[in-house]
This record gives sequence, structure tokens and C-alpha cells, in this order.
Amino acid sequence: MTKTLIQNAPLTESELLRATQILKQLQADLKQHLHHNIGPFLAAIYDTSGQEIARAYNTVVQDNCSHHHAEMNAIHAAEKAFNTYDLSPYSLTLYTTSEPCQMCLGGILWSGIKTVFFGVPSARVEAVTGFDEGFKPHWIQAFKDRGIRVYGNIASAEGESVLAEYTHMNKIIYSPEKGVKICS
Ligand SMILES: [Zn+2]
Repeated sequence: MTKTLIQNAPLTESELLRATQILKQLQADLKQHLHHNIGPFLAAIYDTSGQEIARAYNTVVQDNCSHHHAEMNAIHAAEKAFNTYDLSPYSLTLYTTSEPCQMCLGGILWSGIKTVFFGVPSARVEAVTGFDEGFKPHWIQAFKDRGIRVYGNIASAEGESVLAEYTHMNKIIYSPEKGVKICS
């Protein structure tokens, strides 16, 4: 089944193939670790030579920290690795198993990340899990206006199945606005 690619810039077939491979690998990694005390999201940051600089899970619950989303944790690790608050000189690419939430959009903007590939679109994340992904109108165009390439809905079938598995494990679906609820 072919799913429509979300994109704000051109993408070659080989770039898409590579991104699909990486996102499938991240989804498989996430699936293996769902029984750990993590949220169902994983992000990785790669440099221009294709080397992985950072990989991080969502650790909101285990750290008691509302902003320890996978993307924020990965950005933090990359900034530590490069010893900088501005990653823009390195032209880095962020891969994330689901579309970034409202907070992570801001985090990505301020980090200097240049390219974003994501798996499951937010509407599907919300439908499958019940998480609230926030309010983020026209963010893909807004990123384009700031020179950040965005591509999504990649390996999203694999991603949705991992999210569904997490939801069926009766894990915490945290949401301050809606209150914490345990899925049943
Ligand atoms: Zn987030």
C-alpha cells in the first residue's frame, strides 16, 4: 500500500529509500523497548555523512519531566556531542518515529536542525493512542519558510502498529489538559 508522502521540498528516490530504512529501524528498536519505562516515541539525529550522532526515547514518565520527548532528548544529546547550543553549522537531520508535537516543533526550530523525517502523522498518533499533539497550524510550510526541509508519513504503517501495541499494554497516556488516564 502506498501512502502519500508529506513534504515541503523535493526528495530523491534514494533519499526516500534511506529515510524509510532508518525510520523502519527506529520503529523496530522502539518496538523492542516498549516494555521498558519509556513513552512510545524514538528520535535519532544524523550528520551529512550518514553517521548517527544521537538516539533517544521519550522519557517523560521515567524522568518526571514533561519536556523529555524523544526529539528534545535527541537534540540535547546532539548539542552535548557537539558542545554547542546551535546545530545549524552541521546541517543535521532528525528522524522521529511520529510527527513532532507542538513543543518539539519549537525545540527543532531553536536547535538549528535542517531536515526532519517523521513517521506517523499527528492525527493518527492521536487516533491510535489518545495523546494530545498540540496546536500547530501550517507548521510544515512555516518550516519551509525558515529553510527546514520536512518529510513525513514514512514507514507509518509500522509506526502505527508500534503505537497500537503500546496502547494495548495499558501504559500511561499522559496529557495535562485531559488529565492522566490509563488505557484499557
Ligand atoms: Zn514532542
